Amino acid sequence: MKTQQELRMQLRQIDHKSYKAYKVLEGEYDFRTYRLCIDHVQGDPFATPSRVRIVYDNKGSIPAEYLESRHRRIAVEDALLRRLHRNLRACMDGGRKGSGKSGLVTACRAGQEVLERTAMHVTATEIVARIEVGFPAFGRTIAAGALEEILFDLLPTVAKRTFSGVQELAAAVELADDQQFIREELERRGLVAFVADGAVLPRESGVSQRPMKQAVAFKSPDTLAVTLQLPHQGPLRGMGIRRGITVIAGGGFHGKSTLLKALERGVYNHIKGDGREFVITQESAYKLRAEEGRCVHETDISMFISNLPTKADTTCFSTENASGSTSQSANTVEALESGSSVLLIDEDTSATNFMIRDDRMAQLVSDEKEPITPFIRKVRSLYEDLGVSTVLVAGSSGDFLTVADTVLQMDCYVARDVTARAKELAVALTQEHAGKKIWVRKRVAKKRVEKVRVHGWDSISLDRMEIDLRYMEQIVDESQSAALAYIMQYVLERMADGKKSASQLARDVSHKIEKEGILSVTPKNYGAGAAAAVRRQEILACLCRYRGL
Ligand code: ADP
Ligand code: MG
Repeated sequence: MKTQQELRMQLRQIDHKSYKAYKVLEGEYDFRTYRLCIDHVQGDPFATPSRVRIVYDNKGSIPAEYLESRHRRIAVEDALLRRLHRNLRACMDGGRKGSGKSGLVTACRAGQEVLERTAMHVTATEIVARIEVGFPAFGRTIAAGALEEILFDLLPTVAKRTFSGVQELAAAVELADDQQFIREELERRGLVAFVADGAVLPRESGVSQRPMKQAVAFKSPDTLAVTLQLPHQGPLRGMGIRRGITVIAGGGFHGKSTLLKALERGVYNHIKGDGREFVITQESAYKLRAEEGRCVHETDISMFISNLPTKADTTCFSTENASGSTSQSANTVEALESGSSVLLIDEDTSATNFMIRDDRMAQLVSDEKEPITPFIRKVRSLYEDLGVSTVLVAGSSGDFLTVADTVLQMDCYVARDVTARAKELAVALTQEHAGKKIWVRKRVAKKRVEKVRVHGWDSISLDRMEIDLRYMEQIVDESQSAALAYIMQYVLERMADGKKSASQLARDVSHKIEKEGILSVTPKNYGAGAAAAVRRQEILACLCRYRGL
C-alpha cells in the first residue's frame, strides 16, 4: 500500500499529461482512517467514470449486534449508502468543471426499497463503499489539481461525515427488525400479505415512487384485521390476506391496481416514510402478466395450452414470439418453477383468453377446439394441490367470485370484505387438476460472454443480444438490472454445463447469493454499474427471456 504523499507526488507528475497517464494511479493508498483503492481508471474523460473504493476501518463504529443477522446488515448498509449520497451532494456544491464526466463523484442511487447493494458492504472489520469518480480533464489533458481536491478534500470530509457518529442507524435497524418480524408472522399465521392500517399505497405519479400526498390511508376491514406485536413499535393493526384465492374487486379508479402494486413491491422492505413500510408480502410472490413477443424455451405449458392447430408439442414448447396467452402461461409455469407460492395478477395486464372463458363462448367453441384451459379452471387446484395462493384484481370477470376464498372490494380507496355477498352470486364452474411436474425443461449450455451492458432498468444485453426486462414488474431499479446482467454472465460462464436446467441454475445461483452475498457473483470492479440483489424468481425469468440460451 502506498502513502498519501506518494499519491500527491504522482498526481503532480502527471498534471497536464495526456489522459491515459491517469492509469498509473491504480492501486491502494493509506488515508489513515480508511484505505483508498483506485480499482479502475477510465480510458478517457467521456467513458464510464473510474471505480474507487473507500475501505473504512470498522473498529467499533458499527455495533456488532447490528451485523448479526442478514436483514440488519442490509438495513445498516442501506442507511450508510443514503448517508454517503446526502454527504456527496452536500459537499459537491456544483463546483465541477472540465470535459466529459470531469469531477463527477457519485454512488449507486437507492430508491424506496432497501436492497443488498454492491455499493456498500459492511463486515465486522470493514465498511466498503464503492463510488465512481470522473477523473477531471480539460479536453483530453489531465487536470490533476482538480482530482487532488476530490481525493484529499472532498472524500475525507465525506468519509468522516458518513462513517462516524452513526446513531441514526438504530432507526433503520429497528424498522428492519419489525419488518422481518412481520415476514415471519405471515408464515406463522398462514397469511400471504399484511397491509398495515395507515399505510399509504398510491405513489406520487407514474414516474415517481414517492408516496402520494393527501392519499386516503389504508384501513383494514374488521373481518380481516389482525394485530401484530412488533418487537420495537409495539401493536400494529392491519389487513391479513390469507392463503388461498383472494379477489380484489371494485369499480374502475377505486384503487384496485394500487393495492396490488403495493403487494408486488411488498416482497422488498421499504424505507421509513415511504408509506409501505408495513406492507409486507410473502417473499416469493410473483406478478404475472401477458407479455406478447417474448421467447419461450422448452417449457411445459400444457397445464394451460394443448392441441394447438400447429400440432406443436406444448409439453416442451419453444417460440421466439409468444402470444398473449402463451406468454402468460409461460410466465406462470416459470413462477411455479422458481418456487413462488403466491401469484399476483391484474386483469388489466392479463390476456383475457388466458384468464377466463365464459359459458356462451364454451357452447359456441367446444373444449376440443379450444387449446387454452383458462387460469380460472386451475386456480383452485393450484392452491389445494400445490399450495400456491393467488391474489387477483378482477373488475369485470365475475366468474372469479365463485372460486375466491376472500373477496375484497375497493370502494373509493377503502377496502371492504364482500366475501359473503360474492358467495351468494356464485355459479357452478368446472375445475381441473393442475398437476405437479417439471415445467421448464431447457438445459443450459456453457457460453462465453464478452460484454454485458445495462440500458436503464428495463433492458440489458449480453454480447449485443438484448434481454427485455420491461415486463418483469418487480424489478425496482437499474441496479437490479445490472445484477441480472452479471448473474447471467456468471451463470452462463461458470455454472452452466449443458446438463443443469435453467431453473436448477436459477436456484443454485440464488442460494449462492443468499449465502455469500451479491458481491460473490459480480465482477471484481463491477464493470457496467453498481448491482443490487435480485430474487430467484427474477433470475429465472431473465434466463428464460434470453434468446441466446
Ligand atoms: P383501479 O385499478 O381500481 O382502476 P387504481 O389503483 O389504478 O384504480 O387507482 C386509480 C387512481 O387513484 C390512481 O391515480 C391512484 O394513484 C389513485 N389512488 C389509488 N389509491 C389511492 C388512495 N388510497 N388515495 C388517493 N388516491 C389513490
Ligand atoms: Mg386497475
